Amino acid sequence: MAEQFDVVILGGGSGGYACALRSAQLGMNVVLIEKDLLGGTCLHRGCIPTKALLHAAEIADNTRDAAHFGVKAEFHSIDMLGVNAYKDGVITKLHKGLQGLVKSRNITYVEGAGKLVAKDTVEVNGVKYTGKNVVLATGSVPKSLPGLEIDGKRVITSDHALKMDSVPRSVIILGGGVIGCEFASVWKSFGADVTIVEGLPHLVPAEDESSSKLLERAFRKRGINFEIGVKYASHKVGADNVTVTLENGKEITADLLLVAVGRGPVSQNLGYEEVGIAMDRGYVLADEKCRTNVAGIFAVGDLIPTLQLAHVGFGEGILVAEEIAGLKPRPINYAGVPRVTYSEPEVASVGLTTAQAIAAGHDVVELNYDLAGNGKAQILRTAGSIKLVGQKNGPVLGVHMVGSRVGELLAEAQLIFNWEAEAIDVASLIHAHPTLSEAVGEAHMALAGKPLHAHG
Ligand SMILES: Cc1cc2nc3c(=O)[nH]c(=O)nc-3n(C[C@H](O)[C@H](O)[C@H](O)COP(=O)(O)OP(=O)(O)OC[C@H]3O[C@@H](n4cnc5c(N)ncnc54)[C@H](O)[C@@H]3O)c2cc1C
Repeated sequence: MAEQFDVVILGGGSGGYACALRSAQLGMNVVLIEKDLLGGTCLHRGCIPTKALLHAAEIADNTRDAAHFGVKAEFHSIDMLGVNAYKDGVITKLHKGLQGLVKSRNITYVEGAGKLVAKDTVEVNGVKYTGKNVVLATGSVPKSLPGLEIDGKRVITSDHALKMDSVPRSVIILGGGVIGCEFASVWKSFGADVTIVEGLPHLVPAEDESSSKLLERAFRKRGINFEIGVKYASHKVGADNVTVTLENGKEITADLLLVAVGRGPVSQNLGYEEVGIAMDRGYVLADEKCRTNVAGIFAVGDLIPTLQLAHVGFGEGILVAEEIAGLKPRPINYAGVPRVTYSEPEVASVGLTTAQAIAAGHDVVELNYDLAGNGKAQILRTAGSIKLVGQKNGPVLGVHMVGSRVGELLAEAQLIFNWEAEAIDVASLIHAHPTLSEAVGEAHMALAGKPLHAHG
C-alpha cells in the first residue's frame, strides 16, 4: 500500500525544497525525497562554498594590499585547512537550519534514491509514495567534453575543486563562464597561476559584451591569463602535470585542469521517459507554469532548460506549489532574473543586453556610467561601470554592472527592470552618499538628460 500525499517531490535542492516549504505553508501534505544532502548543489557544491572561497580570496587580496590603506599587515600564505573549516562551518550551519525548517513545516523527509514508477508514484528503497501531484527536481551535475575524462586528480570538476586541501601552483580552466571565472578569481587570489580557455569570443559570454570586455580588462590587470575564441583540442596527463592543446596548436601545461564547460540535467534511469515525459537532450521540457506534458507532473530547477541559478529554482518551486494550490501565479519573466558572477570584480546584470534589445526590435539608447566618478568606488579602489540599456522615451530594458560588490546593486536594478521604470523615475530618487548605489542613481540621471557627477 503506497503512502498518499498531495505533493511528492523528487530532489531536495533549491527547486525541490522551495516547492516543499511553500506547499506545506499552503496546507498541503508533502513528501520530499533526497538521495544525498538536503540543500543540493547550491548549499553543498555550488553557491555557498564558492562564495565562502571568494570571501577568503578577498581577505587575501586585502591583506596583500593593506599598505595602500596605511594598514601594516603581511600576507604569508593560504592555509586551505583553515579555509575549508570556515567554508564547511558556513555550510553546516545553513544545512542544520534548513533541516530544522523542513521538520518544522511537517514535511515528510525521505532519504534515498527515488524513481518515478508511475505517473503519480515515486519509489524509494521499495516503498511507494503516491501523490496527486509529482514535482521532479533532480537537478544537474558537471558536464565534460567528448574524450575529456575526469579523473578527479589532475582533471577535475567544481565538485573536486571545492574539496582541495592545498592551493595548486598552476591551473588551466576550461570554460570562461560563471563557474570558470569564479574559480579563476579565487585561485589567482590564493597565489596560483591561472589560464582560462574559452571557445566563444569572450569571457562570461552570456553577458552584455561591454561587461565581458571590462572583466577581461580587470582579469588582465590581475594577471589572470585567458585564451578566448579558441577551443580545446586534446589533453595529456603527465606524472605531475597536465598539458592542454588548443585547436590553434598552442600548448598550456599546469598542475591541474578544471573542466567548467557547463552542467547537464540528472534525468537518466529515473523513469521519466517510461511515463511519457517529453524531454530534450536530457532536460525535462516544461511550460511557463513548469508543467510537463504529463498531467500532474511538474519539473523545476536545473532539470529544465531555464537559467541554471539557485534563485530560479526557488522561484520555480514556489510557482509550482502555488499553481497546485490553485493560486494561479504569474509565470516567471526570466529576463527579469538577476544574474551575478561573483569574481573580483563582480559582473551583475538584469534585463536585456544591447544585442538582445536590438534583436527584439527596441529603439535602443545606451548609457555608460564609469565608476571612477563614484566616491565609494574610489574608497574601495574598484574600477568598472554601470551600463543602462533603455528604450528611447521608454523603460529601462537592461542594467549591466562590473565592479567590486556590484552584485548587491541588483536589488534596485531588478526593481527598475521588473517594474518597467523609466530613467526619469529613478533619477528623482535620492541615493545615499557615499554608496555604490549612487552610481545606479547617477546612471539614470545621465540617461534622463540631467547628469551630475558625470564627465564628457
Ligand atoms: C560551483 C557552482 C557555483 C554556483 N554558484 C551559484 C550562485 O552563486 N548563485 C546561483 O544562483 N546559483 C549558483 N549555482 C547554481 C545552483 O547551484 C543551481 O542552479 C541549483 O543548485 C539548482 O537547484 P536544483 O534544485 O535544480 O538542483 P540541485 O541543487 O542539483 O538539487 C537536486 C537534488 O536532487 C537530488 N537527486 C537527484 N536524483 C535523485 C534521486 N533519484 N532521488 C533522490 N534525490 C535525487 C540530488 O542529490 C540533489 O540534492 C552554482 C553551481 C555550481 C556548480
